[in-house]
Amino acid sequence: MSIFDKILGKLFKKAGDKMEEAAVPAKEAAAESEAAPAAKAEAPAAPAEESMDDTPVAQEVSPKAELPPDLKALLPGPPPGGKIKFAHYWGAGCGGCDVSMLDINEKILTVNDMADVVFWPIAVDGKVKDLEAMEDGEITVTLFNGAVRNSENEHMLKLLRQKSTLLVSYGACAMWGGMPGLANLHNTKEIMDYVYTKTPTMKAFQDTQPEPVFPQTSYQAPEGELHIPVLYDTVRAVDDVVDVDYYVPGCPPMQTSINVLLGALIGHVYKGAELPPKGTIIGASEKTLCEECPRKKENRRIEKVVEPHEIDVDPELCLLDQGIMCMGPATRAGCGSPCTIAASPCRGCYGPTGAVSEMGASILTAIASLFPVLDNDPHIDEEEIMKIMSQIKDPLGYFYQFSLAKSLINRAVKEKGGN
Ligand code: SF4
Ligand code: SF4
Repeated sequence: MSIFDKILGKLFKKAGDKMEEAAVPAKEAAAESEAAPAAKAEAPAAPAEESMDDTPVAQEVSPKAELPPDLKALLPGPPPGGKIKFAHYWGAGCGGCDVSMLDINEKILTVNDMADVVFWPIAVDGKVKDLEAMEDGEITVTLFNGAVRNSENEHMLKLLRQKSTLLVSYGACAMWGGMPGLANLHNTKEIMDYVYTKTPTMKAFQDTQPEPVFPQTSYQAPEGELHIPVLYDTVRAVDDVVDVDYYVPGCPPMQTSINVLLGALIGHVYKGAELPPKGTIIGASEKTLCEECPRKKENRRIEKVVEPHEIDVDPELCLLDQGIMCMGPATRAGCGSPCTIAASPCRGCYGPTGAVSEMGASILTAIASLFPVLDNDPHIDEEEIMKIMSQIKDPLGYFYQFSLAKSLINRAVKEKGGN
């Protein structure tokens, strides 16, 4: 029994006897329909989803007259061709993308009707050897989140690519290296040296050792040789390592984008609708966030850089116009601008639009154009401009927060003996 079946069981229990009784025939009918899915595909029903309205209606394959309408829509039964196989994996990332799948709330029940979760370490007890034993392409769709930072990330990504018909690069770390990509400012030796000898807790430990102690990639234990993954010098995006079918941006992807992906899958597996063209960035727009954001843009000159907590933020005026560094001009729309609406600047997690190949440079240019440097601006000398610019804390981390590993200059390089 999968974790979703358990959740489903609990939900029905909580919903009371009537619903519990209704669940029984529905489950039986679902099992029946798995035996002869095509013959049962008669009564149409669409899973409850606003953004799925445009997608072909999912066909109901089991009679569920007893279910309340909202549950009936969420539980379309298995697809006519039987359940698809679904996997989700976590590379170099924080785990937020894994958890974001639950942001679709009760629609996770539709996922359970549509798919068997065959591999998803955070949610089900799958083993790598089970994955290895699968046929190539046997998994219908895999969402891979996180960047490629070490040998394990790379091995699992290549294995999942081989076993999956569709591979989705899911979230900012997968698409552009994300925050782990900022490690490209250093090499592995520098990072290991800092973490294992200079951080206060590790320094206290190392001071008790005759020689600095570092983790080894293999260790001969009495039971056999143990390995840990090898950390790479350069963090890479998923599509720098394997072929990718679709992308879902965000840190993590927003509920709306996940629902668009889910809607496309539902349309395809229940009704045979065509999938989006390969390479589609799902649930995102070609516009910039500024075009979606409801704040009024006046292109005011920036004479002081501030953080939201340092001023009384105007609820309607563009944040950049107020001196708050907002990445909206260089970021792809599609998230619904929840951050800027809540007076928090956009950090760029939906990545650049198709017209931009260098996101950091693009936002830097947009912001620099708001400094008072035009002929008709009151004269401000270079020193003053430098003073304004120096108020931007950690400009590289700010402008390349998600995209460094995928940028034109994707890592720092040190010449022999130099800095
Ligand atoms: S994209 Fe954001 S939420 Fe997803 S793994 Fe990376 S840091 Fe975490
Ligand atoms: S810069 Fe930010 S706050 Fe201003 S319009 Fe663009 S997204 Fe909205």
